[in-house]
Amino acid sequence: MPKKEIVTYPNPLLKKKSKQVTAFDNKLKQLVSDMAETMFAAPGSGLAAVQIGVLLRVVVMNMSKDENENKYLELINPVISEEEGTQVDEEGCLSVPEYFTKVKRAKKVKVHALDLNGNELKYEFEDWSARVIQHEVDHLNGKLFLDRISSLKRNLYKKRRKKELREQKEQKAG
Ligand SMILES: [Zn+2]
Repeated sequence: MPKKEIVTYPNPLLKKKSKQVTAFDNKLKQLVSDMAETMFAAPGSGLAAVQIGVLLRVVVMNMSKDENENKYLELINPVISEEEGTQVDEEGCLSVPEYFTKVKRAKKVKVHALDLNGNELKYEFEDWSARVIQHEVDHLNGKLFLDRISSLKRNLYKKRRKKELREQKEQKAG
């Protein structure tokens, strides 16, 4: 299970819409296992395939209770079919390094998704896990949590990120 490099903002790939999975083969299994490995190594709460450069509608969610556990759930072609209530909490993203801010999300969601064999499954998520799946489905639609905050905050982050990238480049050059 090789760990993959995570695509980070402002890579234009993160704005692309991912495609439906149609082949439930070993390649898909390998993708899911690579994604899980990458998520645990980061570590992160969830990961969408686009974050390792694959534009397919595949999500993994970290279901571990502590860092000794490597439990995850894979959702293929996930669709949020119902939303209920609201929650506001701190959110971050492995593709948006070192930035956390409050984001409003639905409190409860119902999700339809396929498993690795193409069987349809239904899930209900609440609170933290509801936040994670909403964040990951956004990724599949080319959206980041930065698109859900005020333009003022977003622009401040963009400036900071540009500066960070410039400094990293200068360090490498020097
Ligand atoms: Zn993310």
